[in-house]
Amino acid sequence: MKVVKFGGSSMADAGQYRKVRDILMADPERKVVVVSAAGKRYSGDHKLTDLLYLCYAHIQYGVDCSTIFDAIANRYIDIRNELGLALPIEVDLELLKHRIDAKEISQEELVSRGEYLSAKLMADYLGFQFIDAADWVKFNMDGTVNEEESYKALQSQVILGYGAVIPGFYGAMPDGTIHTFSRGGSDITGALAAAALDADVYENWTDVSGFLMADPRIVDDPQAIPEVTYDELRELSYSGAQVLHEDSIFPVREKNIPVNIRNTNDPAAPGTMIQEKFVGDHDPDRFITGITGKKDFSIISLSKRGMSNQVGVLRKVLTVLERHGISVDYVPNGIDNVSVVLPTSSIEKELYTIMAEIKKEAQPDTLDVHHQIAVVAAVGRKMAFRPGISGKIFAALGESGINIRMINQGPDELNIIFGVDNKDFKEAIRVLYNSFVTK
Ligand code: ASP
Repeated sequence: MKVVKFGGSSMADAGQYRKVRDILMADPERKVVVVSAAGKRYSGDHKLTDLLYLCYAHIQYGVDCSTIFDAIANRYIDIRNELGLALPIEVDLELLKHRIDAKEISQEELVSRGEYLSAKLMADYLGFQFIDAADWVKFNMDGTVNEEESYKALQSQVILGYGAVIPGFYGAMPDGTIHTFSRGGSDITGALAAAALDADVYENWTDVSGFLMADPRIVDDPQAIPEVTYDELRELSYSGAQVLHEDSIFPVREKNIPVNIRNTNDPAAPGTMIQEKFVGDHDPDRFITGITGKKDFSIISLSKRGMSNQVGVLRKVLTVLERHGISVDYVPNGIDNVSVVLPTSSIEKELYTIMAEIKKEAQPDTLDVHHQIAVVAAVGRKMAFRPGISGKIFAALGESGINIRMINQGPDELNIIFGVDNKDFKEAIRVLYNSFVTK
């Protein structure tokens, strides 16, 4: 059995609902469907959830939100009418408007109604059972999900083999009030449903054909990543485009359920498969899974003669940073020098105090800071124990005249990370991509 989640763009209008139905009809294993609120139909359009937040902001300030509410209502009424359905959603909408006007509704409940209405319509269209997320996604008082109880509640409600539609994004607090996940949280609902029902696969349908090997704003038409492990994904996603909500990984990973990112607008594309590990080799010539990176880092570097024989220099530096609540990304070092690499934004305000404290406490011979550094990471599980990969990376960068400011490779050899000047960032990614991906 497969749990399938459709994101906002897959729920944007009646045409998209038809595509969703075709996708479900194409595979009878696709039985449990989790949906987002209606997303953008075209660039410049509004996401339903954004309109709901806006509506709440209006009532907060005592401003009438009828116009926005009508736009929200019409999106759903249009979908219903275009699909020729008879579901009386006006009843839900009127009740909702009444509660808004009476200021009886919380922000979280109001913004969750996009998913609620999507799911009701989709269930009616497919002839599937509607299961309200409030009846099974149970939050603890601290906002974490009570997985055991939630899973049991869903198991007792799903009539397996029949088909069910569930709204994403929200659940219920112990007192029954509606609580939402953070934005994009329908991915988490889908993952919880997959874990609760021991699905064979969690399919996450969106509007891209999976994760791409590099940012398409930097590399022209980058290839999709067919297979990626959870560990690689963590490395890739620290700067990459948000295809999947970070917190949706945990429930499925725990149960060893693979996640398949798919494209509603290109259902024939296999998308990206995310799994703990892969047996066999999909593409033996490809050593790099993806390339990612971020600009605007700073490097604080210090040297001290005889440092390699002294205990505690690095600890002193890290203690200063810890005191300021700053987390460090990388710590490249030499015999008598050490550097810490961190996002410039995290030290900007307190830089001079931090430098003074390091000077006082670690007593280095030299202490410098360099800004405008970009960090680039080549990520790939197949780089491990394979000689020549970093040689190839640095040769390619050297030939292109890109100066490397820092190099870091984790002991698990899952990534090779290097720093370049901000101005070389895009070129470094292009050079890497072109030297590893043969068209
Ligand atoms: N509709 C919600 C949002 O835009 C949740 C989701 O789509 O995943 O954040």
